[in-house]
Amino acid sequence: MSQPIQMVDLKSQYYRIKEEIDQALLQAVEDCAYINGPSVQEFREQLCRFNGVSHTITCANGTDALQIAMMGLGFKQGDEVIVPAFTYIATVEVIALLGLIPRFIDVRPDTFELDYEQLASVVNEKTVGIVPVHLFGQCSNMEALLRIAEQYKLKIIEDTAQAIGAEMIFSDGRRSFAGTLGDVGTTSFFPSKNLGCFGDGGALFTNDALLAEKLDMIANHGQRKKYRHEEIGVNSRLDTIQAAILNVKIQYLPQYTEARQDVAARYDQAFSDLDGLEIPFRAKHSTHVFNQYTCKVKHGMRDQLKQFLSEKGVPSMIYYPVPVHLQEAYVSYGYQAGDFPVAEQLCQEVLSFPIHTEMEEQTQEYIIEQVRNFFNK
Ligand SMILES: *Cc1c(COP(=O)(O)O)cnc(C)c1O
Repeated sequence: MSQPIQMVDLKSQYYRIKEEIDQALLQAVEDCAYINGPSVQEFREQLCRFNGVSHTITCANGTDALQIAMMGLGFKQGDEVIVPAFTYIATVEVIALLGLIPRFIDVRPDTFELDYEQLASVVNEKTVGIVPVHLFGQCSNMEALLRIAEQYKLKIIEDTAQAIGAEMIFSDGRRSFAGTLGDVGTTSFFPSKNLGCFGDGGALFTNDALLAEKLDMIANHGQRKKYRHEEIGVNSRLDTIQAAILNVKIQYLPQYTEARQDVAARYDQAFSDLDGLEIPFRAKHSTHVFNQYTCKVKHGMRDQLKQFLSEKGVPSMIYYPVPVHLQEAYVSYGYQAGDFPVAEQLCQEVLSFPIHTEMEEQTQEYIIEQVRNFFNK
């Protein structure tokens, strides 16, 4: 191998569309409209068209998007928000920062989504919302979640940071893009996400015009008119330069998704006979856009496999090593080891392999060979 293998190859991705990107960048620099330049509005429109959603609000990152969503929905101190115990910290962080109370529930062992069958047991008079996380690129079962949310009058914020372009498939065959079904969907354009910019970026989606107006206002210091602050807001903007890059890259998103799915299909096939390795489960209710290709390594062999691969020059990552309810910063919420056995076991078993839009077959064959070697196959 001449180049070291990477989890994500941003450089090759850039070089493939360098001319278009460079031109868009240079234009943005020359226009000097660095804040809220024309590219930002254009990108909002592109996202609406891509997702088939009425309103898109851009913001500074995916974590802000979650926070703005919760502020826009009027969640108040002491309100409870239901979140999966197995997710990236951002989902829970903003709940804590707003003085809300995270109500963890366990995830499903196959799809890693929040277990909607356990939802009813934690709903009480303080519960205001649910944050399903479309983890690793697969949509949570929104059909089940929408039913429960309606029954208990809860708001849904879909954390779509890892799943832009994934499609929810309803039992009647209807399809909708992840992030467009709840009250608000949020996403991130962090470089390694499926639609990544060259820094930080984020967005919110909604079909509710009034809510869209409020979210827009909150992202901009709570003002509709300059220096008239109707709400307590935040300063959270997508830079014009990032929007210019994203306007180019969004054209390639369907192609990027397919490239990821091809890599996943090759891994699936190569690993299907390995007893110690469980390949990603494909839910019937969703397409999978594979922000991560995450396997379960059985029999306590995960860390050894990771070490073995590392010695062979194959990177792998553990998303995530500790469930949120057991993170030091969140002990005050009173959860303990054993509370969410599935999440806790996943943290011992999951391992994500390199997957990105520029994976060469030769490189992937090498990765596959090393994984198979470990299992003596
Ligand atoms: C990346 C990510 C976020 C946060 O996005 P940032 O843009 O990094 O703030 C939130 N939730 C999930 C599930 C993520 O993967």
